[in-house]
Amino acid sequence: MYAKVIVDIATGQTNRAFDYQIPASLEMLARPGSRVTVPFGARKIQGFIWRIEDKTELARVKPITDVLDPHPVLTQELLELGEYLAVETVCFLITAYQSMIPAAIRAKPKKKIELLVSTETLPPVLQAVFQKQTTIDWKDLPDDKAVMQHVQEAVRHEQIRIDYQVKDQTKKQTKRMLKLHPEHRTHAASLTAKAKKQLELYDWFLSIGDEEAAVPAAQLLHEQTASRAVIQGLVEKNILMERNQESYRDPFEDRSFEATPPQELTRDQQRALDPITEKTSREKHHTFLLHGVTGSGKTEVYLQAIDRVLQQGREAIVLVPEISLTPQMVERFKGRFGDQVAVMHSALSRGERYDEWRRVHAGDAKVAVGARSAIFAPFKNVGLIIIDEEHEGSYKQEDHPRYHAREVAIWRGIYHGAPVVLGSATPSLESYARAGREVYQLLEMPERINQKQLPAIDVVDMRDELHKGNRSVFSETLLEKLKDRLEKGEQSILFLNRRGYSSFVMCRSCGYTAECPHCEITLTYHQTKHQLKCHYCGYEEAMPATCPSCESEQIRYFGTGTQKVEEELTKVLPEARIIRMDMDTTTKKGSHEQMLRRFGNGEADILLGTQMIAKGLDFPMITLVGVLAADTMLHLPDFRAPERTFQLLTQVSGRAGRDKLQGEVVIQSYSPDHYSIQFAKNHDYPSFSRHEMGQRKRGGYPPYYYLTMVNVSHEEIGVALKTAEKVTSRLREELSPQAKILGPTVSPIARIKDRYRYQCMIKYRDEPELTKILNDIAVHYQKETAQDKLFITIDMYPQLFL
Ligand code: ADP
Ligand code: ZN
Ligand code: ZN
Repeated sequence: MYAKVIVDIATGQTNRAFDYQIPASLEMLARPGSRVTVPFGARKIQGFIWRIEDKTELARVKPITDVLDPHPVLTQELLELGEYLAVETVCFLITAYQSMIPAAIRAKPKKKIELLVSTETLPPVLQAVFQKQTTIDWKDLPDDKAVMQHVQEAVRHEQIRIDYQVKDQTKKQTKRMLKLHPEHRTHAASLTAKAKKQLELYDWFLSIGDEEAAVPAAQLLHEQTASRAVIQGLVEKNILMERNQESYRDPFEDRSFEATPPQELTRDQQRALDPITEKTSREKHHTFLLHGVTGSGKTEVYLQAIDRVLQQGREAIVLVPEISLTPQMVERFKGRFGDQVAVMHSALSRGERYDEWRRVHAGDAKVAVGARSAIFAPFKNVGLIIIDEEHEGSYKQEDHPRYHAREVAIWRGIYHGAPVVLGSATPSLESYARAGREVYQLLEMPERINQKQLPAIDVVDMRDELHKGNRSVFSETLLEKLKDRLEKGEQSILFLNRRGYSSFVMCRSCGYTAECPHCEITLTYHQTKHQLKCHYCGYEEAMPATCPSCESEQIRYFGTGTQKVEEELTKVLPEARIIRMDMDTTTKKGSHEQMLRRFGNGEADILLGTQMIAKGLDFPMITLVGVLAADTMLHLPDFRAPERTFQLLTQVSGRAGRDKLQGEVVIQSYSPDHYSIQFAKNHDYPSFSRHEMGQRKRGGYPPYYYLTMVNVSHEEIGVALKTAEKVTSRLREELSPQAKILGPTVSPIARIKDRYRYQCMIKYRDEPELTKILNDIAVHYQKETAQDKLFITIDMYPQLFL
């Protein structure tokens, strides 16, 4: 047999399968999706078996050195998905495959063989191999075809098991489990009335009423159900059997989760759930867009849809943005589905992440809840995929492979016949437009649970505050309301948007910001040249000394931090108990969670923070949300800036008044009339989306056009520019005349790590040849890129414009 192997060298020349022979001793282990080590030139390197074939076209092939995985890490489905990703995101196959497995197993683990039954029941050949040991190293097996055949048989009969030798053995525990032997009835005939204790234990097992039930030996001893000798007696008679079951590092083992029974659904929830379960029950793929206002009970709909899928014996994947993967969110899933839930996100240690992944891989977990990369959860029978807060930019990976989790979800949904549910209070315009064209099915939940009102939103014009002589970061209105909450013993959230600071210029007097005349995009301030610049088309102008609109000299670039806000807050409200949550205060593992718990317990009056407090929080005592500077993001050089602002304001506002008490929101802004702020104030997503669609149409942006960014960088500015020009003119030649090709222009960050960066933007509607052309371009420059001199990055649906 021959294996086609994708080797672990990410270059154009090695971006294909290489043939290797599979030696007899490895035939049992070598499967498509297994990782292997193979000789490559003078080196030994790792790779993935891609296919197995019974012939090769080559005259001479070298043998595989070793198979690293006892069970393939990639399923057939994931192997195919990798091929799709490699083409669609223009990356190497090996890069796609590597991104699907947790970092911890990219290291080289040892394999071991573990005995699951008593030695006597093994064929003599294997008895000799094991002798008195219960675990042996794979490499201690004799390289003998006959032995290997016995090993294969024994694996099939569950007498032995092949597994990884995990490095930190101290952490990994195995439990000794006991269960009835499959032929216990026959063997039990040998039990005489004299073996009273053994009969008792046997009866105890029968009384469980489940022939497959496995009970930890430690539990029997601890509860004095039986002694060690009695257990041993039944094991020797093949009435009971013993096996080692490994237990995983459980990141949540010191926490218990309150069981949360399903809630009776509201009419809106039921109407949203029915079409989903109609598809899951028929195992049909379909994409739904669940548009439900904050607090409309989307999570309960997810939970009940998942429940149906689990009852069918299928699995579910739930994606949530990393920052809203709060303990509260985890609790709701663990509370409903208990141990069946695996949580996958970056706050876990490498080992914990690996163990959660393995629980999914081994089929011990049925629901994977995690951030973006959980979309690759190696389930074999996916029945439902949910993407909560589907509009989040973080679902797009900003490094190779540059995939969007939504597209991967739909690919897997089609593969498995599983519906995909995209949920949001503020869907991305792309998804909403697709729902409008009935590509996705729109499900709407326009009201909060129990007809609870959405909070009233007050927009405060900070220019007026300045004219009144108030130079503090708090408007009078906000300060008054904060005092009021303090007196009433209710809680407040203060949100400071960190994104977009200091890169844009604004007049503090009239709110004027400079925009590009060609692109409807805010110009970015460049300190070195004291200039304003458009990063899409290259337009530039001098930084004005006075405001072009009102001639005030108060025009400057903008910025303040949470620490400064906290200081000011303590000055004006000395009695307030404040928790500040930002990058600086949450570096320690678990601190994020601890702060939220303290706030939830009422140990603070005000939670002050950045993006990380904007989502997913559900605390009943929050009745006031203050947004300190709503504009900062509005002026990022990104055509999605108004959309992101609307989304964020809606999300933060959604934290107020979620329970019995009515909530209120104060939004402070220098451009209070901006449509994204006004529509957020009125909780009016449909009008926002209509207005924004008009902007997109005029600017030629998604969802009317697709975008692709090509970025070229090189240490020598001339080479970077010349290559970018060549790429751009090639695209102009080969794409249809309908495609708009902008650039090359200097990238917003013109130089990173001493490399000069140029970019080219492609706007298009229908270019079936595009990925092929881009892949050709990548191959064309492979020699230069392999030498690390020239970088060409191709980003198919860019979310970030740096
Ligand atoms: P969303 O995710 O849409 O913002 P949540 O799922 O967090 O909303 O629900 C808001 C609150 O309403 C939660 O506290 C939740 O427990 C509660 N809730 C959800 N569904 C129901 C229901 N059918 N009956 C009563 N309470 C519900
Ligand atoms: Zn002005
Ligand atoms: Zn421009």
